[in-house]
Amino acid sequence: SPVLELREITKVYGSGPAEVHALTGVNLSVRAGEMVAVMGPSGSGKSTLLTIAGSLERPTSGEVLVEGVPLAGMSRAEQARMRRRHVGYVFQDFNLLPGLTAAENIALPLELDGVKARKAAEAARRALEQVGLAEQATRFPDELSGGQRQRVAIARALVGERRLLLADEPSGALDTRTGEAVIRLLRTFCKKGATAVLATHDAQLAAWADRVVFVRDGVAIDQTAPPAGPESL
Ligand code: ADP
Ligand code: ADP
Repeated sequence: SPVLELREITKVYGSGPAEVHALTGVNLSVRAGEMVAVMGPSGSGKSTLLTIAGSLERPTSGEVLVEGVPLAGMSRAEQARMRRRHVGYVFQDFNLLPGLTAAENIALPLELDGVKARKAAEAARRALEQVGLAEQATRFPDELSGGQRQRVAIARALVGERRLLLADEPSGALDTRTGEAVIRLLRTFCKKGATAVLATHDAQLAAWADRVVFVRDGVAIDQTAPPAGPESL
């Protein structure tokens, strides 16, 4: 079954005259190992789509399935557990804690999940190696470049074998070259079996994805044929 499936998702914020239809009848199915780009102008519903896909918000109607399991059938506790175990997020502002080193930032979610400190530190070290930052393990976020911070955020999202990565404008604050390095990194992970859904308004970056879904006014148009893009790393 697909890693992630959205069925007829609708999201309405507010009510009455303040009502906003952020998403209308969105269907999306993402297979293991796929990298899907969600493109669209500001306010089109990309972030809403990602937060619903990651069960950070409930849809007004429709169904979300992760690894074939409908989220609606789960208790809140089960949903939280599912998120911690399977889903990693990368947000535009990275959300790194300034008082913790790169390694500590990555180990924290594992420790919160009950993993022993030494094991979490070991997993963090491996994750930093994977993103090419082994040398920066003991640096604090403000001692890292924008691109390096972004790679720490990706390492944190994927630590603990979480296989679905949701990234909202993962290159938003980065220059083109660095943004491309981040996308290449995501591609590497997808080649190893992780799955990524990334929201971006940058067509050049979206060209790296296997598939591009366009969102406009809350309606998604799935481009099943991938656009011509860079073939390999
Ligand atoms: P994008 O990520 O493409 O910029 P969003 O998903 O953030 O789009 O927003 C889609 C629409 O939903 C916009 O009109 C936005 O103003 C509205 N919206 C998003 N979040 C909220 C919220 N929490 N409350 C009310 N309206 C919201
Ligand atoms: P900046 O310092 O400009 O913010 P980065 O720290 O992201 O940029 O470094 C960008 C450079 O690092 C790119 O030239 C890219 O080739 C290289 N790079 C990106 N990802 C990795 C990786 N996983 N391992 C090793 N090098 C990488």
